[in-house]
Amino acid sequence: MSHTYDDSNIFAMILRGEIPKSTVIETDNSLAFRDINPQAPVHVLLIPKGKYVTIDDFAANASAEETHDFWATFASIIEREGLREKGFRVISNAGDHGLQEVPHFHLHILGGEVLGPILAR
Ligand code: AMP
Repeated sequence: MSHTYDDSNIFAMILRGEIPKSTVIETDNSLAFRDINPQAPVHVLLIPKGKYVTIDDFAANASAEETHDFWATFASIIEREGLREKGFRVISNAGDHGLQEVPHFHLHILGGEVLGPILAR
């Protein structure tokens, strides 16, 4: 999948404040908000504010500062949402085979109940 960023994607609109969001945590470089169509009692989306299309784009091209901020924010979400004790699942869809709908890198952080098998086809 191309790493060419499309500024019209819905998470870019959220970052520009053009559509509403339910913020969980916001930092200088990262934003976490609740998924509009939750698949579990806890369903948080974590995104970098930088223009990265997929997880591999972020892994290859994000700065040390962005990377540190992202994972520090991830740890805060696990703590604040009470997910550490019982566990959780993290998913990042990428490209066509991953059925990625929004082409701005995001982690789905899911928890609050037993989540079932990793894949349902
Ligand atoms: P993906 O298929 O991994 O790209 O998932 C995109 C996710 O974004 C889906 O789980 C959607 O429910 C979620 N989503 C789409 N629009 C919004 C929105 N405006 N606010 C919060 N979540 C959204």
